[in-house]
Amino acid sequence: MTANRLTSLLVVLSGLLAASASEAQYFGRNKVQYRDFDFEVLKTKHFDVYYYPEEREKVEHVARLAERWYDRLSRLFETNLEGRQPLIFYASAADFRQTNALGGELGEGTGGVTEGFRRRIIMPSAGPLAETDHVLGHELVHAFQYDISSRNRASGFLRLPLWMVEGLAEYLSLGPVDSQTAMWLRDSLASDKLPTLRELGNPRFFPYRYGHAFWAYVGGRWGDEKVIELFREAMKSGDPEGAISRVLQISSEDFSRDWAAAIREAYGSFLEQQKSASEYGPVLIDEKRGGGELNLSPALSPDGRRIVFLSERDLFSVDLYLADAETGKVIRKLASTATDPHFDSLQWIGSAGAWSPDGQRFAQAVVRKGKGALAVIDTGSGERVQEAVFDDLGEIQTPSFLPDGRRIIFSALQGGIVDMWVYDLASGTKQRLTNDAFAEMQPVVSPDGRRAAFVTDRFTTRLDTLSFGSYRLGLIDLDTLETSELPGYEGASHTNPQWSPDGADLYFLSDVDGASNVHRLTLATGELRQVTDLRTGVAGITPLSPSLSVARDSGRIAYTAREDGRYSIYGIDDPARGAGRPATRLAMNESAILLPPRSEPGGTVEKLRADATTGLPEAAPEESEPYKSGLSLEYVGQPTIGVGVDRFGTSVGGSTSLYFSDMLGNQNLGVAIGAYGSLRDTSGQVFYSNLKKKFDWSVGLRHIPYLSLGGYSQSVDGSSGTPILLQQSLIFRQTYSSAYAVGALPFNRAQRFEVQTSFQRVGFSTEVRTEAFSAIDGSFLGRDRQNLDAGADPLYLGSVSGALVHDSSVFGATAPILGSRGRLEAGPTFGSISYTDVLADYRQYFMPVRPVTLAFRLTHFGRYGGGAEDPRFRSLYLGYPNLIRGYDGITAAECAADLGGAGSQSSCPVYDRLFGSRLLFANAEVRAPLWGLFKGQLTYGPLPVDIALFADAGVAWTSQDKASLLGGSRDLLTSVGAALRMNVFGFLVVETSLAHPFQRPGKDWVWQWSFSPGF
Ligand SMILES: [Zn+2]
Repeated sequence: MTANRLTSLLVVLSGLLAASASEAQYFGRNKVQYRDFDFEVLKTKHFDVYYYPEEREKVEHVARLAERWYDRLSRLFETNLEGRQPLIFYASAADFRQTNALGGELGEGTGGVTEGFRRRIIMPSAGPLAETDHVLGHELVHAFQYDISSRNRASGFLRLPLWMVEGLAEYLSLGPVDSQTAMWLRDSLASDKLPTLRELGNPRFFPYRYGHAFWAYVGGRWGDEKVIELFREAMKSGDPEGAISRVLQISSEDFSRDWAAAIREAYGSFLEQQKSASEYGPVLIDEKRGGGELNLSPALSPDGRRIVFLSERDLFSVDLYLADAETGKVIRKLASTATDPHFDSLQWIGSAGAWSPDGQRFAQAVVRKGKGALAVIDTGSGERVQEAVFDDLGEIQTPSFLPDGRRIIFSALQGGIVDMWVYDLASGTKQRLTNDAFAEMQPVVSPDGRRAAFVTDRFTTRLDTLSFGSYRLGLIDLDTLETSELPGYEGASHTNPQWSPDGADLYFLSDVDGASNVHRLTLATGELRQVTDLRTGVAGITPLSPSLSVARDSGRIAYTAREDGRYSIYGIDDPARGAGRPATRLAMNESAILLPPRSEPGGTVEKLRADATTGLPEAAPEESEPYKSGLSLEYVGQPTIGVGVDRFGTSVGGSTSLYFSDMLGNQNLGVAIGAYGSLRDTSGQVFYSNLKKKFDWSVGLRHIPYLSLGGYSQSVDGSSGTPILLQQSLIFRQTYSSAYAVGALPFNRAQRFEVQTSFQRVGFSTEVRTEAFSAIDGSFLGRDRQNLDAGADPLYLGSVSGALVHDSSVFGATAPILGSRGRLEAGPTFGSISYTDVLADYRQYFMPVRPVTLAFRLTHFGRYGGGAEDPRFRSLYLGYPNLIRGYDGITAAECAADLGGAGSQSSCPVYDRLFGSRLLFANAEVRAPLWGLFKGQLTYGPLPVDIALFADAGVAWTSQDKASLLGGSRDLLTSVGAALRMNVFGFLVVETSLAHPFQRPGKDWVWQWSFSPGF
């Protein structure tokens, strides 16, 4: 065996596998296009609004809101946007998550996105007009940020911390009066955790809220003009502190000190007067009692003894739990989305579920296959007993049973607008209760079953001027569908109504005194009473998140309060407490939600926001145009296209790439070219993919030469008088030219079927490259290339394959930690060589105790059929450290040792047994985050490092020399050891392992490096 043979064999196992395997992702989750949207374009003065017909009515309002924001922001930034502004608008979050305009999975917390390449704003309806208006204003601030940074070449923009960028978007869209940000500041102040300027980058401080507070402080103290000036300055340098000291003439320390003093001044006395939630009753669910840091949407059983809530306690998704409301002990998990693809969403941000009157069933709003759905769960067994998927509803929220236990009332988004429906579980029919552009939300039916209380903006919002008022409570008669407004507080918001058991009173949440608290309305008299006086507030993720539950029979109250950065669920059992005190304040106290240092609302931002009519067009254009799916350049130079990753390694191709797509991202065209000197060594690739429908497909052409060094020599030629140094290298070249087509049909987020076919030519050539230097002074004299006709005949190969792919795993820092993944694939290759590839790969991950994962993998990959062991192939190699550890890098000395020192140069059994046409390997690993092990939690701390103990086993065999498992002579190779894996800046996982290979004669312990994530 020569050194050359070793190196060429250790070259990545690319060969014939690369072209077929690299087109599709080996694992990975799916973004499913459940619907084929029929987009049109509404052209306003500055915007191209992309929408589909069912959301036409909503989009007419959105188009006017967008122009009004454009007018406001162009005044503030003193500039117009270059070119037209694309706005891709979806009717619901469930539709939005199917967008192709953005890659990757979109989380439930994502309310909208503005991307930098084409400055597209992509967003769903946020329900009520006021909420949609906020998201729109927020995203348009980002469009201005991108536009200004690209036109001024302000390269510092991309380095700016989130709190600066997102905080500005919040401040300019929300202004200096905001109950949510005020609550976060009060909470930080109460727990003595106000951030300094330098601490704002710490993820502990949510960048949207604290960034909002930061800019409100700058605007309040120095004026809103300085807000824009400071941002422009920070954009140039990418250095917030430097910009602050230049523009505001204040040091970071002084800023932090003054800011904290202003917050204390604004809210200090408020905190002294108000109470904490535990003064009203027991904590039902918190970190120590059944829950996590986030415990949302409480729903008490009719007798008040059990509670269903949403929590992140299992860390990987916000799941639905049933617990004993006395002890907090979790009885069972009712639904999850982390490793179960059945539901796309449990609607944890804006919805709460409901108990049936007999306490035996629980109804939860969910998203299933991209549509709004209701799931009814048996609370005794945890089984899903009924499921209703609504083709015409985007998202359902806050279902609630009628007293008959047969019907459910809920609000839902249709065409981006929130209305109310009643659904009959027995007949499967639904009745629409309201139909208008206003929002009607959070309906609950009275104990007598005759009317429903709900939350609405219909009494305070004007559609002609699109000026938004506060949310009020309304009543709707279920027979006549007549609605009426209920008494409430002037200018304050009223949400989350719940009936008292006798139907005489309504509990609800209001921020009338500045903090969101529980209030009570007696319907007969109109008397308003305040039940809680929390210093922080009753709160969910957004001001509209349902956070209050009153038990249908017992009248027990449960609510979520935010305290010390956590959302915990508290109860009120004492009837005297539940009765509350007469309301002292009947109109909104705006000063309590004014962000410091302002003592009254003011400034340019607030003035522009308060002016509803300036910049507002009378109406949206009537005509819209059909969507044209023309391709245009999206970006240049991302070096990703030519990189192919095959099953067991990586091969590198192109270096320059162009990427084209249409506005909606449905069609994509990529071109990549990599030039390495001569034309012969130029690689190129072009692909086209179409993602519009559920079945995604792509076609492509590629041409890639792989070079390997076959030998090297150096000699001195003195024949021409002057001595010349000649350096010669022998280059083997394999050139792959292929055409391929790939299709993927996803069933849900976790499962898909793939098909692919390809035709390939593999050419072989050999070349001698000579470089000449002067042997006297080393100067370069020239180079020469000479082709040898030693190459083999080219191969022509066609292949077809199909694969079933499953991936419900959750990835930690360097490897999956929960769930499972699998790939079953087979397909024939025919032409110059005929064989069939078979792959079965399954992995399962358990977490018996946090933060420790038990991981298992079993994989078989083999080539079968006549051509499977054709000598023109590279054999499959088992020794890669990501297959089995401890067997790579066997040296000639080890061969000699194995053969008793008498080994011939052509044979090395210890080494040869790692190669074959078939591989079978299995791995078991105990893995845990290093930092988390010390803390006993699943946390990575400052270093994304995992440690692992492993046991690997595997065997490679051929049709002649079979594995002992199959009655042959090739024994299983096994090893055990420990590994350390690190995630390097999110780009690369590096593993170093120390393995003890039991069947390796020359070595007891082997250090190895690997550059791939754990299996
Ligand atoms: Zn944003």
